[in-house]
Amino acid sequence: MATGTDLAVEVRGLTKRYGDLEALGGIDLEIRRGEIFGLLGPNGAGKTTTVEILEGYRDRDGGTVSVLGYDPATERPEILLRAGIVLQSTGVEPYLSVRETLRMYATFYPSPRPVDELLELVGLADKRDERVNHLSGGQQRRLNMAMALVGDPDLLFLDEPTTGFDPSARHEAWAVVKDLASLGATVVLTTHYMDEVQFLADRVAVIVKGHIVAEGPPSALGLDHAVRTRIRYRPPAGVDVPDRFRGEAAADGFVVIEDDEPVRRLHELTGWALEAGVDLDDLEVSRPSLEEVYLQLTDGAPATPTPGSAPEAGA
Ligand code: ATP
Repeated sequence: MATGTDLAVEVRGLTKRYGDLEALGGIDLEIRRGEIFGLLGPNGAGKTTTVEILEGYRDRDGGTVSVLGYDPATERPEILLRAGIVLQSTGVEPYLSVRETLRMYATFYPSPRPVDELLELVGLADKRDERVNHLSGGQQRRLNMAMALVGDPDLLFLDEPTTGFDPSARHEAWAVVKDLASLGATVVLTTHYMDEVQFLADRVAVIVKGHIVAEGPPSALGLDHAVRTRIRYRPPAGVDVPDRFRGEAAADGFVVIEDDEPVRRLHELTGWALEAGVDLDDLEVSRPSLEEVYLQLTDGAPATPTPGSAPEAGA
C-alpha cells in the first residue's frame, strides 16, 4: 500500500448530496505521485463532483480529502498554487495574443514555466502571436492546457480533455498528456472514453452512481475485452459454418463474434458467404454502448453497491 508521502491525492469515505440526491456515496481514492490516474464513468456518475471537491470548488458533506498534503476545504489557495486545472472552456481575454495570455497568467505564480517552452509543449509555437479569438476549438483547448501548466504544477486536473476532438486532434492531445506526465507531474483525468484511459492512464477508477465499482490498471479491468466490436448474423438452417465464424450462439439462432479487428473478420466472413452462396440474414456490426460496458465491468453489481461489495481488480 502506498504511504501518505507517495500520494498526491488521498480520499476516504467522501460523501456529497444535492438535496435528496446522493451524488457520492462514500468513495476512497489513492492517487500516487507521478501517475496518470483516470476517473472513468457515464454521465452523472459523480466525476465532476469528485474532482471539484479535490480542487476546492465544491464543499463535501463527509469524509477526508488530502491533495498534495492540503485539505481543499480549508487550504484551497495552497492547492491552486501547485495544481493546474484544465477546464473544458475558460474565459480568456479574446484580444490578447496567445503569448500575451500566457505571460499574464505566468505573473500569478512564484516560479512559472517559460512561456516559449510551454508553447512548444502544447504545439502552439506557430500561433504565439495569434489573437485568442482567432484560434480554432482545438487550438483553444491547447491554450487552456498551457494556461494550466504555466505555474509548473505538481498536479494537473484534466476534465474530459478530448471531448469534441477529431481523431487526429485526440491523438495529439494524448501525446501532450504523456509528455506532461514524463516531466513528473501527477495527472488526474476525467473521461467517458475507454480508449482514452487505456492509452493514457496508469490506473483507473470506474465510478457509477457515486460509487467506485472497479479500480486498477486498465489492462486488469478488462476494458479491452469490453470494447470489442461485435459481429452478429443468423446462418440459414443446414449450412455448415466454418469454425472461425461460429463465435458464440445467441438467442434466436444468431451467432455472435467478438473481435478487435472487425474489418478483417467481416471481410473474411462475407467473402466466405459470397463464395458459398450463403445469405447472412440480419448481419449486424456494433460496438457495445458505454452503458453496456459499465454493466459488464460492474458484472451485474447493484447500481448502489454496499461497501466492500465492489469488484476490485489489481488495485
Ligand atoms: P458528466 O460526465 O455528465 O459530466 P459526472 O460524472 O461529472 O457527469 P456530476 O456532474 O458529478 O457527474 O453529477 C453527479 C450527479 O449529481 C448527477 O446526478 C447530477 O445531476 C447531480 N448534480 C451535479 N451537480 C449538481 C448541482 N450543483 N446541484 C444538483 N445536482 C447536481
